[in-house]
Amino acid sequence: MARYTGAVCRLCRREGMKLFLKGTRCYTKKCAVERRPTPPGQHGVRRRKTSEYGVQLREKQKVRRVYFVLERQFQRYFDTAESRPGVTGENLLRLLETRLDNVVYRMGLGISRPQARQLVTHGHFMVNGRATNICSYQVREGDHIEVRETSRSSDHFKTARENMRSAQIPDWLSVDPDKLSGTVTGQPRRDQMPLELNEQLVVEYYSR
Ligand code: SF4
Repeated sequence: MARYTGAVCRLCRREGMKLFLKGTRCYTKKCAVERRPTPPGQHGVRRRKTSEYGVQLREKQKVRRVYFVLERQFQRYFDTAESRPGVTGENLLRLLETRLDNVVYRMGLGISRPQARQLVTHGHFMVNGRATNICSYQVREGDHIEVRETSRSSDHFKTARENMRSAQIPDWLSVDPDKLSGTVTGQPRRDQMPLELNEQLVVEYYSR
């Protein structure tokens, strides 16, 4: 499985906003966006006029990087979103939001999406009683996600249990911190997905 292996803070600086890819560090003064709020590279501070295309491109990259998905896979999500009934942009965000790695992050079992992704690939979870290590697995209403019995005693999940208690869990998920598990109770609505993303610009980018 291909994955981005570069410095993730560069991605935040490039998009000019915190993408929260490093967990607790993102909430401290060490965050690179707070220390150097300019795009990375030698010419990062140069002021440039951004074209309409440039705005759309940046928004597409931002959405892709928030969910930590590579280009080809993102394009596939867009194609699927377009073929479904409803608003394409919302369909796209919903597809990304219901990826298993994002759901694990939303449940408070990982401190960032990249960490949640790693936990899934390392096989720490079961979906509906079956071991699943596919990050892009699409959860559906009624799906039950739980940490595998053998992983529950690890230090990470001991801490995660406390995180689950204090995490802001979206309405479409219900969690049980004692059992390190959760259930999908519905489909995420637009107002329950990241509001800072402008999915319409992504649709315009792919409709050129
Ligand atoms: Fe982004 Fe977190 Fe790095 Fe800050 S610390 S730049 S929010 S990944």
